[in-house]
Amino acid sequence: MLCLLAIPLLLSLATPAQAQQARPFGDGFLEELRRAATFIPGSPPQQLRVAAVGHVPVPVSDVIEGAGPDTVNMTFPVYQLRFEHGWITVDAATPDSNLGPKVHWPTATWDSMQVALRDARLSVVTHEHWDHVMGIMRSQFFEAIKPHAMFTRAQAAWMSKLVARNNGGTGIDSAEAARVLVVDFDPYMPIAPSVVLIRAAGHTPGSQMVYIRLASGKEIILAGDVAWNMAGIREQRPNSVASKKAIGVVEDDAASARQVRWLKQVMDAGVEVLVAHDDKWLEQLIARGIVVRGLDLRNP
Ligand SMILES: [Zn+2]
Repeated sequence: MLCLLAIPLLLSLATPAQAQQARPFGDGFLEELRRAATFIPGSPPQQLRVAAVGHVPVPVSDVIEGAGPDTVNMTFPVYQLRFEHGWITVDAATPDSNLGPKVHWPTATWDSMQVALRDARLSVVTHEHWDHVMGIMRSQFFEAIKPHAMFTRAQAAWMSKLVARNNGGTGIDSAEAARVLVVDFDPYMPIAPSVVLIRAAGHTPGSQMVYIRLASGKEIILAGDVAWNMAGIREQRPNSVASKKAIGVVEDDAASARQVRWLKQVMDAGVEVLVAHDDKWLEQLIARGIVVRGLDLRNP
């Protein structure tokens, strides 16, 4: 009898690493990410660069629940984690055909995004929504991008479902899915020196954030659409309920609230947080020299 009782005790003692792991988006989680950022030896990214198209004006109350009447510009970025040789892209924006003819869409910017995606060593997206993946999935360079396009299992699964619903061509068919890289991890995975993916199901099942520690020591988290505007993090408010309903987005409210709370905490600790669509905040980070405008496409 004593022996039987001892078995579960031994099993629980046999997983010390798990016991030490911080709860995702809880106390100690930032410290774990900082440690994970050292797992892959090598020089950290020198710069976080960005090109963005769109600049769609919307009342902030249309994107953040309970926010004020100010108008904000929504932007659609491609980020470039620039290493000495080569780069990683995060997010892929979408062709202008998805947003209509009135949207600000400089062809030269779009073309530079496409070359950045084509020549990247690795391309990831913060989540599986069309405005983050179509720049890859409908790229004229898709054949060149697909060997280094890395989606999570949840992202690929959602995009496959969209094909089943014939969702305006915004999905990934099974043949395409078979040709991109698909990974699964929980709760984080380093992908390069000083770059860590963070599983962040909430806005969508396949949402993830990207923790970056630049060569300068500056820490940045690309937080995707956990908030459609930084007001959601600053004021601890969810994305607009009416807008989510209108476009069929079903968030995990509890998970999103926990992530938004944690992002506020890490901002207070000096980490820069950048959500995808907030043009004003992006311009402020560019003005402060945290993010560099334009993509450096030399030495791929
Ligand atoms: Zn988005």
